[in-house]
Amino acid sequence: MAARFIISAAKPDQFPQDAEPEVAFLGRSNVGKSSLLNALVGSGELARVSAQPGRTQLINFFQVDGGFRFVDLPGYGFAKVPLEIRSKWQGLIESYLIGRKPLKLCALLLDSRRGWTPKDVELRQWLEHHQLPYVVIVTKVDKLKSQKERHQSRTALSEGYTGELLECSAVTGRGVREIWQAIKK
Ligand code: GDP
Repeated sequence: MAARFIISAAKPDQFPQDAEPEVAFLGRSNVGKSSLLNALVGSGELARVSAQPGRTQLINFFQVDGGFRFVDLPGYGFAKVPLEIRSKWQGLIESYLIGRKPLKLCALLLDSRRGWTPKDVELRQWLEHHQLPYVVIVTKVDKLKSQKERHQSRTALSEGYTGELLECSAVTGRGVREIWQAIKK
């Protein structure tokens, strides 16, 4: 599945005008969002894998073959970012998520070893409040080495959330096909 970069938007008037269905990817900084985007389109260069978490302040739009788009929203929850910038990001993210007609699905990413952080829960509740359809994707499952770790991770992730969890690894490619199926559905 090929994809190409369209634009990085720093404010709403830079969002693409024409409307193809969009899938938006959300998660904490360092959750593995860029790696997953690259794994989904089979390219090592689509979204830059960040060495410095929390620095991307832009919304990146990608055209994906098959007539839709991936939207990479800035990661949240990076403690070193000053409050003022944090609220600016939040404003940008909300300006995209609220009332964006082409937006068909949000993908909320969670790190398999961290589970739900308060910020993730807040975001999930916010998506529900605004009636935005979402799927939950659990990243970096290759890092769970033992049966015990996998069990602990699943237990923590299911606490307070009974919906489906899509597990994936950008390293092994596990779960990539299932995520594609969820997106196409
Ligand atoms: P982003 O900030 O959410 O875009 O996260 P990145 O994709 O930049 O990944 C953050 C760090 O996690 C990088 O060091 C990646 O190499 C690593 N990473 C991302 N996905 C995986 C994965 O599936 N497995 C493992 N083991 N590491 C991953």
